[in-house]
Amino acid sequence: MASKTYRPATLLVHQGNDRDPATGASAIPIYQASTYHHFEGKPGEYDYARSGNPSRQQVEDAIALLEGGVRGFAYASGMAAVASALSLLHSGDHLIAPNDLYGGTWRYLSLILPDQGIEVSFVDITDLQQIEDAIRPSTRGIFLETPSNPLFNITDIRAVAAIAKERGLLSFLDNTFMTPLLQRPLDLGIDVVIHSATKFLGGHSDILAGLATTANPELAGRLKRFQNAFGAVLAPFDCFLLSRGIKTLKLRLEAGQQGAQVLAERLQNHPAVARVWFPGLSDFAGRDLHFSQATGPGAVLSFELKDKGDIAPLLQQVRLPIIAPSLGGVETILTHCWSMSHAAIPAATKTALGINETLLRISVGIEDVEDLWEDLCQGLPAR
Ligand SMILES: *Cc1c(COP(=O)(O)O)cnc(C)c1O
Repeated sequence: MASKTYRPATLLVHQGNDRDPATGASAIPIYQASTYHHFEGKPGEYDYARSGNPSRQQVEDAIALLEGGVRGFAYASGMAAVASALSLLHSGDHLIAPNDLYGGTWRYLSLILPDQGIEVSFVDITDLQQIEDAIRPSTRGIFLETPSNPLFNITDIRAVAAIAKERGLLSFLDNTFMTPLLQRPLDLGIDVVIHSATKFLGGHSDILAGLATTANPELAGRLKRFQNAFGAVLAPFDCFLLSRGIKTLKLRLEAGQQGAQVLAERLQNHPAVARVWFPGLSDFAGRDLHFSQATGPGAVLSFELKDKGDIAPLLQQVRLPIIAPSLGGVETILTHCWSMSHAAIPAATKTALGINETLLRISVGIEDVEDLWEDLCQGLPAR
């Protein structure tokens, strides 16, 4: 089934291998083995499970097919994918990154990379001039997330990829929020795409997983070497769950997206709500740019309450959403960004970025949206 000509919905279901080559089984089994026999003394396709195994091959082929890469890589978490992709940089290199970044990635870039001799400049990455101004002789890479989280700042992917190409820099994009179903960064000129597959690709809040892919064979070779050497690989059982999750991505994401549209529009008119951020709203600031590079608004929205005192009662009173950091599950997840997803970022930095204590993020699941709305309303003051 190794063809790139199928449309996304078909690729999601059939992935690289839609039946076990060994037995014809309708799902690739969980190859729970650490090593592989050398028949007649010769290594076969698989040798030692860190280097590769059929369960992992399944999801690695899937992400490469879905994103248009030459090869995919599966890691033990999204952060392992971020860190492994950034292994393409060397000590002495400089990286440009958004100041408005997933908290865990911010922590890695600001606390770990500098110790390894890689300096990072955090800029307003939506402003191309700020990128140009941050470029130094040692700059080797630009890291992107668009839409950003939780404030949905939209970066012009084509324009940043063009700057990277012109200046000989590597471009990285964390595509967790959009998934390849809505946004395909490699087609827009990005070098390496990264996912926390813990979120929409896995889709059931039951695994941690990371994926990366590239359309550049030379970069793919280097990522492969690092993956094998470093060993932060995704285990066979989690590969099975991830592959199973990917099969239903279209149905889940479309349902969540429809629910998010309804909730965003209603929250915008709720008296307790100060502001809503969602690319599907007609007055969303980055709307045209977002829809020039993505085919949907996604299933996540943020909103700010007028009164800080309404946050705690809401978090206590809602029954349906899981109150937690994370997103992209079949169940709705309500996050207080300040204390959960962005807890790693110092308070002053959060405030400067506009991530206030009154900000909440909802990843809309596949429940009936009327139940979600009633649940939110009973937690918010009717004022
Ligand atoms: C969750 C997340 C990550 C980190 O992924 P883990 O699987 O939790 O390690 C990275 N980027 C984004 C945008 C995320 O939402």
